[in-house]
Amino acid sequence: MIRFFNTMSGKLDEFRPLEEGVVKLYTCGPTVYDYAHIGNFRAYIFEDLLKRFLLFKGYKVKHVMNITDVEDKIIRAATELGVSLQQYTKNYTDAFFQDLERLNILPADVYPRATEHIPEMVEMVRALLDKGFAYHKDGSYYFDISRFPDYGRLSKIDMDARKVGVRIDSDEYEKESVHDFALWKAQKEGEFFWDTELGPGRPGWHIECSVMSSKYLGDSFDIHCGGVDNIFPHHENEIAQSEAYSGKRFVRYWLHCQHLVRDGQKMSKSQGNTISIRELTTEHGADPMALRLLLLSTHYRKMLNFTFDALHQAGSSLQRIRDFLYELETRSFHEGDTAPVEDLLRAGEAEFESGLGDDLNISTALSAIFGLIKKANILLSREEISVKGAVLLVAAVRSWDRVLGILPAREPQVLPDEIKHKIDERERARAAKDFALADSIRDELLARGIALEDAKEGVRWKTVPPARPKK
Ligand code: AMP
Ligand code: ZN
Repeated sequence: MIRFFNTMSGKLDEFRPLEEGVVKLYTCGPTVYDYAHIGNFRAYIFEDLLKRFLLFKGYKVKHVMNITDVEDKIIRAATELGVSLQQYTKNYTDAFFQDLERLNILPADVYPRATEHIPEMVEMVRALLDKGFAYHKDGSYYFDISRFPDYGRLSKIDMDARKVGVRIDSDEYEKESVHDFALWKAQKEGEFFWDTELGPGRPGWHIECSVMSSKYLGDSFDIHCGGVDNIFPHHENEIAQSEAYSGKRFVRYWLHCQHLVRDGQKMSKSQGNTISIRELTTEHGADPMALRLLLLSTHYRKMLNFTFDALHQAGSSLQRIRDFLYELETRSFHEGDTAPVEDLLRAGEAEFESGLGDDLNISTALSAIFGLIKKANILLSREEISVKGAVLLVAAVRSWDRVLGILPAREPQVLPDEIKHKIDERERARAAKDFALADSIRDELLARGIALEDAKEGVRWKTVPPARPKK
């Protein structure tokens, strides 16, 4: 059984998709007014873990992630710079896709852009007006939440005590009620607008997700994700718009991840405490896969405090897995029995799968991997692993990595001639019993990220990460 914590029900619910064997998944994507930070990527990596686990369990997954390329901050910045929205957002959209690739995040099936769905948004606002859920005031259109009795069910907000939500532009527009939110905003002097049958203006932020999810996944679909900051008002408003429009239940499972924080503060632009992926990898020399492992390894519903020490530790854990595979893939093994390995694998596989099936319990899944490595290393040291046993172990780790995604296929590594000459020189020094020279060459190579090992089969080499990311 697979179960997930559903924000809507407030409990762990057994997961069953609407259509057997197929999962329809919508995840709120980036607002491309700046580079996405590692807090954003905590959300995208949690969603990637969820998706990879469902694929691992044999489901087909249809995944849609929107790109918010029109929004207050984008409009303001593009207007100030005197460029079009497209010109402004292109760089950040391209950077976002590069970062997804760098972090080995599986691509969505569709990345719809808000600016490419204006007619559909106009049509949804028009329908909400016709059905009496929306009203018009001073060129803008609002959703009347008093007409939607279920409002607040997802976020469990106290409707009486509620203050105006962060993203609702209540100070910028007059409204019948402070609780209502903008569907379509009237054009402001000097700002970018679309001339539509609703009048000149631009869409509110929430309407794009209602429109694009139903266009690509249907009026009702299985899973909708985001960070906890999306619960209110964004997802609450999406539910109101979509269910008022279609008369059907919008989403069956709502999954939200907790924030990534730094020194106790949510990582966000407004706090000024963000770090982008490019900053981490280029300025601090971080390994993107160590970052991926770090972001994965705290359960998604717990707060994750980012520190460089934690990143360094994640790098060491990753190296343990890489070293294990390296041993299995480069050593020579004897023919023989696979029983000891098979026993380890049976226990490990059950732990890995049942852990993840229980609301993506990553601690259990990681302890299955590291437990396996520890026990298999003991067998390795006793030379109790056969050729077939080694193959089974490699296959198991690679198969679990379909879920974790931390061991992407690397280009076959070729040593530069200069390094090869150094290795030969060290071999000659060893043969001549000049161990001081041999050791100094070995240390020099290690400092350059090449570790040498004298095995039965001869000298082996592997790349090792830089000593420690620079702070
Ligand atoms: P935004 O571009 O602000 O709309 O955010 C994109 C996604 O990142 C949303 O799902 C947010 O909930 C999520 N997010 C933003 N900041 C954080 C954070 N510090 N930790 C985790 N998720 C975040
Ligand atoms: Zn959204």
